[in-house]
Amino acid sequence: MKKIYLVFIILLFVFTGCQVKTIKDKDKSVIMCSTEVIDDLVRAVGGDFIETSLAIKSGNDPHSFSATERDIIRITDSSLIVYNGGGLEGRLEWALSKIGNITPAVSIIKNIPEDKLIYKDKVLNPHIWHDAMLWKSVVTFIADNLVKMNEENKQVYYQNEEIVLYTLTSLDKYIKEQVALIPKEKRVLVTEHDAFAYFGKAYGFETLSIQGISTYSEVYSIDINELADILIEKNVDTIFLEATVPARNIKLLQSTLKARGHFVKIGGTLYADTLGHNNTYDKMMRHNIDTIVRALSNK
Ligand SMILES: [Zn+2]
Repeated sequence: MKKIYLVFIILLFVFTGCQVKTIKDKDKSVIMCSTEVIDDLVRAVGGDFIETSLAIKSGNDPHSFSATERDIIRITDSSLIVYNGGGLEGRLEWALSKIGNITPAVSIIKNIPEDKLIYKDKVLNPHIWHDAMLWKSVVTFIADNLVKMNEENKQVYYQNEEIVLYTLTSLDKYIKEQVALIPKEKRVLVTEHDAFAYFGKAYGFETLSIQGISTYSEVYSIDINELADILIEKNVDTIFLEATVPARNIKLLQSTLKARGHFVKIGGTLYADTLGHNNTYDKMMRHNIDTIVRALSNK
């Protein structure tokens, strides 16, 4: 029955010409994770009892995700789907709504208390993982869902949960220590899209961006000239690139400011929506704060 339904579902999607491959080690539960950040957390809690299947490949922009035939096969072959939600993963939620309940799917953001979420113009900002303590609150949710799937591995999942919680506490402490090295008046983070709102709230930065919460839009949250006015007024001298977003808008902002006699440097590349070469969430977060401290402090 599942196979007949699967064929029907695939017909709903655009045929991509990809060769379909099914997954993987039959002895392990396969968890499909939408992003690398989620994949890293699920693997840390699941350990050797699970395998993951990553929906949005490293370096790809989650905001522009659209499910292919191969993705639909992987979704239906998985034991569980873990995704961020809140509109982060392009058309993934739409695809899941079309597929129905054939595979259990859980949204991380739906588990976050409403008063912890950040909205702008009534639109939810989905980039919750940039606050290490808020991300810590997701760990138990992941462990509970893995236990629900494999009750017999409960002890290992909860042991792994404790290790991950400890790692996140250490990370949060490290970020706070590093932020203390930056003069208070320099704690302004200017990036391409509004991915660092949770980071800013947690660690005391004002955040400004050219685009809104998504990179996948021609609608800009702010006019470049309007943003230039704000940066001149605040005497901001550093702006940042993002790993999955073309540099052209940040370069345009830099040249707009230069034409008005205000020089800003590029402070480095931050990882907003991907892990990139960092490979783990912990390394990605440390890369970001180290880059920010190098650029904004007198270190
Ligand atoms: Zn983003």
